[in-house]
Amino acid sequence: ISDKFSDIFRQLSGKATISEKNIQDAVEEIKVALLEADVNLRVVRRFVNRTIEEAKGEAVLKAVNPGQQFVKIVNDKIVQLLGDEHQDLELKGPDALSSILMMGLQGSGKTTTSAKLGLRLKKEGRRVLLVAADLVRPAAVDQLKVLGKQVDLEVFSLEKEKDPVKLVGEAKKYAIKSSFNTMIVDTSGRLHLDEEMMKQIVDIKRVLDPQEQLFVADSMTGQEAVTIAKSFDEQVGISGVVLTKFDSDTRGGAALSLKSVTGKPIKYVGVGEKPEDLDPFYPERIASRILGMGDVVSLVEKAQETIDLEEAAALQEKMISATFTLEDYLESFARMRKMGSVQSLLEMIPGAKGAISEDDIDEKEMKKEEAIILSMTIVERRNHRIIGPSRRKRIAKGSGSSVAEVNRLIKRFEKMRLMMKKVSKNKKYQAKLMQNLGV
Ligand code: GDP
Ligand code: MG
Repeated sequence: ISDKFSDIFRQLSGKATISEKNIQDAVEEIKVALLEADVNLRVVRRFVNRTIEEAKGEAVLKAVNPGQQFVKIVNDKIVQLLGDEHQDLELKGPDALSSILMMGLQGSGKTTTSAKLGLRLKKEGRRVLLVAADLVRPAAVDQLKVLGKQVDLEVFSLEKEKDPVKLVGEAKKYAIKSSFNTMIVDTSGRLHLDEEMMKQIVDIKRVLDPQEQLFVADSMTGQEAVTIAKSFDEQVGISGVVLTKFDSDTRGGAALSLKSVTGKPIKYVGVGEKPEDLDPFYPERIASRILGMGDVVSLVEKAQETIDLEEAAALQEKMISATFTLEDYLESFARMRKMGSVQSLLEMIPGAKGAISEDDIDEKEMKKEEAIILSMTIVERRNHRIIGPSRRKRIAKGSGSSVAEVNRLIKRFEKMRLMMKKVSKNKKYQAKLMQNLGV
């Protein structure tokens, strides 16, 4: 009975709209989850607070609690923030030469990603030339040559040239002469950002005039990647991000931080060391990994799906025939507390504002009423009609209240019962109910 009642009351009251209070626990959990996923602290705060503001007042679905629904809202927000769909590279048509500049710190995966991207574009029918412009790391040119062989792509390199800017100029001439239509330029990285490196890559960019300037970020570096991306974006410009090493056990919070701080789309994700291991970026997948609450998200999704008209009608039936007892009423207090605001509850019930006023059910009053009901016997709680004058006196004594207060409680309870019946037959309420059910 009490389960049935909770459902009914919940719908009657609109239960739950999302309030700051009733999602408090979920908010804490979400913050921890995001921090554990290595999302930047400031991003977490701003993001979560903004989402709370937006979610407030939203009606909660049957079969889930406000916190669970909030998790789903956060998940959807992350997906939205990360970009709703995969963003393709913006290259010129096949008759013109397009170029892609790879940049990032040493070890982030630039060389590997150059080959991976080359393979992908080759499969799309482009004529790709890999350009070995990392002249700092001794084995870098050889590494690209080995990878080039694996993916069967030509690698442009000059043995004597020490200046990457000049090398890129030569590579461009060669590409045009040999009718390549795509150049992928692998550049050197440093362990940390430095001025010389930035100046050099700006010079390379000027000569290359690339269509895409991809920032390659190791997803395991988390916070650090954000700072670095920001300075690359300010000084050179970023058109997109490639997140590498997503096959590691990183939760991938860097994706959220990077997108949120730079606003630049994440275009690909590296998921292994082999040339095939480059995936388009799918925000849904990454979002659920970052949040790590896939179970809750699918629970809410299921709740959204399964609620249909039939169920709403069945609920309606239950409400009309419901045996609403003082026992149920008692339980409703706990629920009302969880809901947070009595006001928001009342606003959900058409006609309820007249029937019960706000100060009818404030917290102090609730405590008092709780005490009164607790002083009743189970039999009394289940059938309020048997509570005559002598019982009322006994109950008043037992709960430390006056007989007038007991009378008032019973009167209000009867009024509420009546209202439930009336309201459940009301067309306007039915429409509202359907809306709350998400039908
Ligand atoms: P660079 O210094 O930026 O050119 O980085 P490299 O391309 O040389 O990559 C550094 C290391 O990371 C190499 O051992 C790569 O095999 C490895 N690596 C790059 N991308 C990935 C990836 O997506 N997953 C894994 N597991 N390893 C990667
Ligand atoms: Mg390299």
